[in-house]
Amino acid sequence: MLEILDEIPEGLFDHGPTELHKILKGPTLIHLKGEKERPLFVSTLLHGNETSGFLALQKFFQKYDQKNLPRSLTIFLGNIPAATQGLRKLEFQEDFNRIWAGNKTEAEQMATSIVSEMKKKKVFAAIDVHNNTGKNPFYGCVNRLLPEFVTLGSLFSKTLVYFIEPHEALSMAFSKFCPSTTIECGKPGEGINEVCSFIEEVYHLDEIPRKRAHELDMQIYHTLARIKIPVGASVTFDQEDKSKDFCFIKDFDDLNFEELAPGTLLGHRYSGNFEILVIDETGVDISDQIISYEGDKIIAKSTIIPSMFTKDIKVIHQDCLGYLMEKLEL
Ligand SMILES: [Zn+2]
Repeated sequence: MLEILDEIPEGLFDHGPTELHKILKGPTLIHLKGEKERPLFVSTLLHGNETSGFLALQKFFQKYDQKNLPRSLTIFLGNIPAATQGLRKLEFQEDFNRIWAGNKTEAEQMATSIVSEMKKKKVFAAIDVHNNTGKNPFYGCVNRLLPEFVTLGSLFSKTLVYFIEPHEALSMAFSKFCPSTTIECGKPGEGINEVCSFIEEVYHLDEIPRKRAHELDMQIYHTLARIKIPVGASVTFDQEDKSKDFCFIKDFDDLNFEELAPGTLLGHRYSGNFEILVIDETGVDISDQIISYEGDKIIAKSTIIPSMFTKDIKVIHQDCLGYLMEKLEL
């Protein structure tokens, strides 16, 4: 399933993400040797339609010659079949950012082999580049709150999210043995310059500094819960459409990273059959503490801070409606 190369194939960066099937057979790991031995690991296209990481690497290699790199660099280009079609994943596929904790399926075995390979190479740091489908600020995510993780994240954004679920994420697997971060750089195609500069900055460090959050002037959030729509329920954002089970407010993704007071209207429920599921990090259903239904209105019952709220109905069904966070003081 995985192809491993020791150079960038001819023409790779002359192609856009939807044309990569012309150059690559599938998921591809590229090890490039540089002067400093410990490689920086950069992964992208784990979700095939999230293109900014690939485009940032394209920019990076306009500046750097792969044969003359100051540090070794390993690139993982993930879900190439989905990227070719401009999709997060293909219908029958696993989510490539949920395959990093098991060893059963072919995709999980591929992930395990990449992790053990990078461990052997004493990877310097790991960066996994993603985009959001909803409106969000640029932010980094870490899975440990050690100073080197927080500092790594701070080099991309002063907004940092700490999460340990989904535990099957790539950054989670790498966090066990090197500083690692998942970065979220807006919608696909956004943030290319910022991601390229970030990769470059980390690339040139001799070691990741160990600063504390307060020294870095960071705002750190902790992901508390994930919001899911029950299987079989239908969703719309069209305020006129009362035929669907749930109709969320028009500017739903404007709520991301906003602190919402109890009583905030989230949408309407036009059939009484379904309830929104809010599942905390330990898998406990906390829906009753978070959501209330008043008539056909869906109301925030407590203070909530959403992230990754999306209006992409396919993503809502495939993954989730979004997450809830709390502020952390470190
Ligand atoms: Zn993603």
